[in-house]
Amino acid sequence: MQKYGGSSVADPERIRRVAERVVTSAGRGGPVCVVVSAMGDTTDELIRLASQVSPGAHPRERDMLLTAGEQISIALLAMAIADLGREAVSFTGSQAGIVTDTAHGRARIVELRADRVRDALAAGKVAIVAGFQGVSTALDVTTLGRGGSDTTAVALAAALGAGACEIYTDVDGVFTADPRIVPDARKLAALSYEEMLELAAAGARVLVLRSVEYARRSGVPIHVRSSFTDADGTWVRGEDVLEQAIVSGVAHDTGEAKATILGVPDRPGIAGRVFRPLADAGISVDLIVQNVSAAGRTDISFTLPRDSLAQAEPILAELAASVGADGYACDRDVAKVSLVGAGMRSDPGVAVEMFEALAEAGINIEIISTSSIRVSCVVRAGEAERAVQVIHDRFRLGEGG
Ligand code: ADP
Ligand code: ASP
Ligand code: MG
Repeated sequence: MQKYGGSSVADPERIRRVAERVVTSAGRGGPVCVVVSAMGDTTDELIRLASQVSPGAHPRERDMLLTAGEQISIALLAMAIADLGREAVSFTGSQAGIVTDTAHGRARIVELRADRVRDALAAGKVAIVAGFQGVSTALDVTTLGRGGSDTTAVALAAALGAGACEIYTDVDGVFTADPRIVPDARKLAALSYEEMLELAAAGARVLVLRSVEYARRSGVPIHVRSSFTDADGTWVRGEDVLEQAIVSGVAHDTGEAKATILGVPDRPGIAGRVFRPLADAGISVDLIVQNVSAAGRTDISFTLPRDSLAQAEPILAELAASVGADGYACDRDVAKVSLVGAGMRSDPGVAVEMFEALAEAGINIEIISTSSIRVSCVVRAGEAERAVQVIHDRFRLGEGG
């Protein structure tokens, strides 16, 4: 199983190069199934196009529009492979039997009926499947959320019993930090599913969170590697007892916003009342802090995806009124910076070092949250990149480490 991301198929030349790669692996014998993303920035452009035509949300039609991006790449890749003398057949998500729930824009795969893909592979053809899309139990076209082609690939790898899922992208693997921000970031040879889950949740977009969840559940190893070289990339698989770095990497997420409900009456049941309507609206809240109460009132702050703000604001307004709070405030100008490592479980000093590194750089921490293998801090958006760099330096994660 191989998956090629948008930048790997961004133009005709690159599509032909991917075709060559695929034909080479098919030449080694064994079935080859390929998942592809939309070319380059196609998905972003389609989203922009929709907003130019209509301000509305139109979830069903938006999915219809966005799935067109991946349909272009599967057809073009199939043509390029055929030109190299290898039989290839393209499938939309629906044709590949990727059945999802009906949550447009963030659908979950509920079943895989990959018979057509299996038949094509059995007939010696290369099967090319459109990433990021499926068909709902109500027979509508759905998308799996941004970056969802990774999930398509892992799900198909599991269904087809592939030994591994190769994710080809524009970097050499998973690094100790985003190599675009930290030039001396180091490529990791291997990571556990748990570490990768935390990195993905913390914003390292090299693998989408759901694909890692799916891989862990189904036990499919993932190999993240460059589509431009033959070098080994990064393996993500079950926990390796031998090599447990205390800290494996730093991630940042600039896609979040902070909301605060001000002056909430401090009494039992309030947190449930505050977060229930947000959960019901499908808005995933991440870091939460509740301040110490003064005179029976407290502020509750939390982060949420910035693109859910428009949906969240009316809910917050109503909420603040109904629980008798003083009001609410939203702040788009934040970012989350996280440090992840399996060895943190047994080393209490790690979080403190991270706070000290930020303090020495004069970066204020607004919210802190921890899990057993992650520490996250919310900082001003403009300071996120510097925060990643100073933390990366502090833990000597780089090449010189
Ligand atoms: P694709 O189009 O192949 O799916 P993405 O843009 O979704 O590619 O993901 C690859 C990008 O993820 C890289 O270009 C890199 O900038 C970014 N990235 C963020 N954090 C990391 C990390 N820790 N290791 C590697 N890449 C990272
Ligand atoms: N094309 C989709 C996106 O840009 C899916 C993907 O690339 O994985 O989010
Ligand atoms: Mg991606």
